Amino acid sequence: APSDESLVDLLRDAARRFGPRIALDFFGATTTYADLDGQVSRGAEALRRLGVGRGDRVALVLPNCPQHVVAFYAVLRLGAVVVEHNPLYTAQELTRQLADHGARVAVVWDKVAPLVRDGQDATAVETVVAVDLTRALPRRKRWALRLPLARARATRAAMTGPAPGALSWERLVAEATPLDAAHPAPGPDDTALLQYTGGTTGTPKGAILSHRNLRTNAAQGRAWVPGLRDGEETVYAVLPLFHAYGLTLCLTFSVGIGATLVLFPRFDLDQTLAAVRRRPPTFLPAVPPIYEKLATAARERGIDLSSARYAISGAMALPPATVELWESVTGGLLVEGYGMTETSPVALGNPVSPARRPGTVGVPFPSTDIRIVDPEDPSRDRAPGEAGELLIRGPQVFAGYWNRPAETAAALLPDGWLRTGDVVVADADGFVSVVDRIKELIITGGFNVYPSEVEDALRRVPGVRDAAVVGLPGEHGGEEVVGAVVLDEGAEPPDEAGLRAACRRHLAGYKVPRRVVVVEDLPRSQIGKVLRREVRDRLLADG
Ligand code: ATP
Ligand code: MG
Repeated sequence: APSDESLVDLLRDAARRFGPRIALDFFGATTTYADLDGQVSRGAEALRRLGVGRGDRVALVLPNCPQHVVAFYAVLRLGAVVVEHNPLYTAQELTRQLADHGARVAVVWDKVAPLVRDGQDATAVETVVAVDLTRALPRRKRWALRLPLARARATRAAMTGPAPGALSWERLVAEATPLDAAHPAPGPDDTALLQYTGGTTGTPKGAILSHRNLRTNAAQGRAWVPGLRDGEETVYAVLPLFHAYGLTLCLTFSVGIGATLVLFPRFDLDQTLAAVRRRPPTFLPAVPPIYEKLATAARERGIDLSSARYAISGAMALPPATVELWESVTGGLLVEGYGMTETSPVALGNPVSPARRPGTVGVPFPSTDIRIVDPEDPSRDRAPGEAGELLIRGPQVFAGYWNRPAETAAALLPDGWLRTGDVVVADADGFVSVVDRIKELIITGGFNVYPSEVEDALRRVPGVRDAAVVGLPGEHGGEEVVGAVVLDEGAEPPDEAGLRAACRRHLAGYKVPRRVVVVEDLPRSQIGKVLRREVRDRLLADG
């Protein structure tokens, strides 16, 4: 049922019920729920003194680390609004988002502070507070950060030392007194989060999410996985907290059940497996490529992953082969759900039991309604078993996009239904399968081609590891289907005719790609989705 509590209430309850229990583990450095609550109170007071008040946006530009969690709740405690950002953004991407939401205070990874300051003229940021990740670890453990951070750094262009003029987050928190307990806390309808969408189909849009939206989704998630025991679980945050999926399924979910959240600055196979020995995971939300890597490595290296009773996959299609691999290695369940930033984020899920149906995203969450409609006219429902656009209505559906009235009106129908932009189909028992995104539909010779169907056919060809399919301008002003494939390491490159012939076995003629290009890798989003629009741009540039 929809919640009347805020995320701040959720943390306060956790501090009361689970005080001495470990809330956070960062390379073995731990924070109890009582400590976390205390740091949040001092962090809130520090931000209040910087002028942050109710409704103000505060930018966070941080990898997963204890300071990220403290800053997140400190902002919320004041009734202010968290805006999450990918710390690996380029200066331009970051400046564009900061300018879009107009936060005056930014709490940022110290390595990013120079970028924020460089772009300051174009944004409203007045105060930069720098977070030093090494300060979250005792001196003897700081080496653990070298590897993931060096890799992260290698992916960004400008990366210099701490910015001159930035305040130190650790010092502010250490020196602040606790916030006055009488300071007004946010209510359920206050905005908690301005969360940018994944940017898969275009420029990310800021989704306005309330405490009720997010608190309800944490509760719905709790009901989804009934086997979890309050105060006894270990949750892994290998997904970024700056993405809707990681933020809810790792952080707020974990706090809601008094779990220990193990934080990784970014997914790194070796660091994750090293943590398994130290603090085995019991609940592991992630995306399919991560499950594949973890299961394969655990099997090869003889690492015991049997603690992982529950794994929840989302954000992209979960291949049934990945389910088989993961479940055979761990003996636990790997279950797929569906969601989007606009739904806080989860809206549908498979039962977390052997009744799950691989290949589907399951059924609507409690108190969530869906319809499957004609995308040309969403007032018309599709006949049972027919594919159409998925509409969602429920307490986790957002209030609109920040500063984007046209996009908001297009996405939210007047009666509260959200247009997902995804084409889905339901089976006789109501289990939903995702077909593809409407925006990425290819129209060729008057026929509709869903790229994911063609990608599946290409992936089945021996030697092909991954595939992306897009529409490129073709003859007669239409589009033609073009594939880009990544080959297995050391694989004999199948020739183009061979690839096309293999597709012909599974696909009608008009769906078979006109051309198939072998590429080194596929561009992916922050959470690992293939960016078809970038594949398209690259193919166009290469002629
Ligand atoms: P943008 O809206 O900026 O283009 P995005 O839609 O990728 O980016 P998110 O909100 O992170 O940003 O992702 C939501 C989308 O992810 C859904 O609309 C859907 O297309 C896709 N998705 C989520 N779960 C699944 C799933 N289990 N299977 C297939 N696709 C999924
Ligand atoms: Mg989207």
